[in-house]
Amino acid sequence: MSRYRLMMLGPPGAGKGTQAKRLADRLDIPHVSTGDMLREARRKESELGKKAAQFMEAGKLVPDEVVIGIVRERLEEDDAADGFILDGFPRTRPQAEALAEMGVDLDFVINIEVADEEVVSRLGGRLSCPNCGAVYHKEAKPPKEDDVCDVCGHRGLITRDDDRPEAIRQRLDSYHQKTSPLIEFYSERDVLENVDGAGSPDEVNDAIARRLNGD
Ligand SMILES: [Zn+2]
Repeated sequence: MSRYRLMMLGPPGAGKGTQAKRLADRLDIPHVSTGDMLREARRKESELGKKAAQFMEAGKLVPDEVVIGIVRERLEEDDAADGFILDGFPRTRPQAEALAEMGVDLDFVINIEVADEEVVSRLGGRLSCPNCGAVYHKEAKPPKEDDVCDVCGHRGLITRDDDRPEAIRQRLDSYHQKTSPLIEFYSERDVLENVDGAGSPDEVNDAIARRLNGD
């Protein structure tokens, strides 16, 4: 079997998490999401987790060296030996350089392309589970029972602060400034695959699978 060391790239709301989960199932490799890892590290109260928690509780971005340490620990686990899908990391060029310095070479960087207006309308209706991190959408993907998480049964879904309109604009600005330079970074390394993110999750997933098969 081929080894797939993948990374998801794209603006907020592109469906990176959804696509990463599906690919992880399809390829039987772990979905390494920075958000999940940070929550997990914080729950386990590891040294790095405690550091991360301090920043998260203050509503600040967790600094690179902390995120990089957490990612490094995760990629050293056995289940990542045959590949993994990074989601939410690297987010900046220095992080991408740090990943390369760790000796982690990526085979494919899947860049899901979505226009800014589409991002705003997608994120504007987003609801999140404060307990397990599952994400819903008021129109596109409501929970089965109103206000109850399908995954963990938690009652009381929330609009995260960063899904409010002014925050969405800020996240987009931040994406264009800090993260979109990675498109060039990975294009130069010949591992970038651009995928149109406008379709349904199934369509996008099929498009990604075709790219991985070299079609
Ligand atoms: Zn939940």
